[in-house]
Amino acid sequence: MPDDKVALVTGSSSGIGAGIARRLAGDGWRVVVNSRASSAGAGAALAAELPGAGYVPADVADEQESARLVETVLERFGRLDVLVNNAGRTVPIPHPDLTAATPAIWREIFDLNVIGTWQTTVAAMPALRKSGAGCVVNISSIAGSRPAGSSIPYAVSKAAVEHMTRLLARVAGPEVRVNAVAPGLVETPWVTGSDFFTPIAEQVSAIAPLRRVGQPADVADAVAALIGASYTTGQVLLVDGGVHLA
Ligand code: NAD
Repeated sequence: MPDDKVALVTGSSSGIGAGIARRLAGDGWRVVVNSRASSAGAGAALAAELPGAGYVPADVADEQESARLVETVLERFGRLDVLVNNAGRTVPIPHPDLTAATPAIWREIFDLNVIGTWQTTVAAMPALRKSGAGCVVNISSIAGSRPAGSSIPYAVSKAAVEHMTRLLARVAGPEVRVNAVAPGLVETPWVTGSDFFTPIAEQVSAIAPLRRVGQPADVADAVAALIGASYTTGQVLLVDGGVHLA
């Protein structure tokens, strides 16, 4: 039981982030649910369901808003022990369509997935160091290390998150551990609305050793495991039902 410890999960009004928030609240953490203000209704509703939780809106791709998010957590909760950088975005583009992946799309994706992860971590680092057992878990993707994913800019942004995880782990210790979870296909609103979900889900279920797609709770299990893994830092844990073996 983590006493009165506080975990901030970015982008947790939906999907994987919501699954992580539920799991950590169930484990006894005081959870801060976050999303952009446009999803405030869903974020506030989830926080209201979870004992001891609160909701703080912020666009973590925005430098001022991500800094303000951490300040608000410290004002309202008094401490910060765990940061889960989950907020992410993509623009689906077939990989061979090089001209569709414009510089503007690269910047949009990197602003949230890479720079958002960086600036929220930097803003949180003093509080995480003070925690005594500070921990960052970044949410990457199987696309960060395999030739796959919804677009090349997205896959490269997740590769950047994975290397950032290792480089930060070198300098954040001994007070703070930094790890990442790289999910395969997970059933969330992000993917279920797209045309490719059903065929890819069927393919994953046919070839993955665990014979099914992932659920947000599967990713949350891995996040909770890394939070508890007190001598592990700089690691990226694939959570893909073994599909990388197929
Ligand atoms: P989702 O669309 O269900 O949830 C995304 C969440 O992020 C929402 O709560 C949204 O409000 C929030 N968000 C979006 N932009 C934000 C911003 N600028 N600031 C703060 N919050 C913001 O998506 P998901 O499938 O749960 O994806 C969550 C993470 O998991 C992403 O980083 C994604 O890359 C990663 N991922 C997903 C899958 C998958 O198959 N679903 C696979 C691998 C990795």
